[in-house]
Amino acid sequence: MIGIFGGTFDPIHLGHLRPALEVYAALALTEVRFIPCGQPAHRTPPCADGRDRLAMLRLAVQGQPGFKVDDRELRRDGPSYMVDTLESLRQETDAPLCLLLGLDAFASLTSWHRWQEILSLAHIVVMQRPGMTHEKLYQNDQLRPLLQQRLVETPQALFAATAGQVYSQAVTALDISATAIRQAVQRGESVRYLVPDAVYDYMKQRHFYG
Ligand code: ATP
Repeated sequence: MIGIFGGTFDPIHLGHLRPALEVYAALALTEVRFIPCGQPAHRTPPCADGRDRLAMLRLAVQGQPGFKVDDRELRRDGPSYMVDTLESLRQETDAPLCLLLGLDAFASLTSWHRWQEILSLAHIVVMQRPGMTHEKLYQNDQLRPLLQQRLVETPQALFAATAGQVYSQAVTALDISATAIRQAVQRGESVRYLVPDAVYDYMKQRHFYG
């Protein structure tokens, strides 16, 4: 079972890495693929360009077995739609795919391009994120039925099919966001220990987000 972790990663931070590691261990994933998006479909363009976001990701996962970086969205033209990424991954493997989403990202799933098709291509593993509760999900008229039909209680249920289930994984709550990191740098504050040391050094050398 392969974990797919998409994001702008502008920059990658410990709020991405620690929850991903916990999902990797809890679900005994063979790997977690970090896939930085090229052109986000739902938000303003990233501050750092794709090459630098990719370089920071590579530094961040260096030495962690099972953590891999996949640059296919950066190599693709046009907006980066997760459904296209999952379709291309599906052509490469028959293994179950687990799309890792923070609770906030999962809450906005129904606004994604061809969102209904995502669950025919992958499972979804939802990771808690501070500031967002599961109760809010049930207030969404499209997510409520989806959860009622697809939410499974144990990770074992994910192994039974290649796609189609939703599982919620408890992870260490880290109230860290890339937005807050960029803002802190702008204010001249240190973001050390919010990002891996190698990413911190890279940002500092290149005067990122300043
Ligand atoms: P920004 O502040 O620029 O919006 P972000 O910190 O939310 O960025 P993204 O790259 O947009 O990071 O997020 C990629 C994925 O990681 C999303 O699924 C998001 O929910 C998840 N994620 C980001 N930060 C956390 C966190 N602190 N805890 C759990 N999940 C997170």
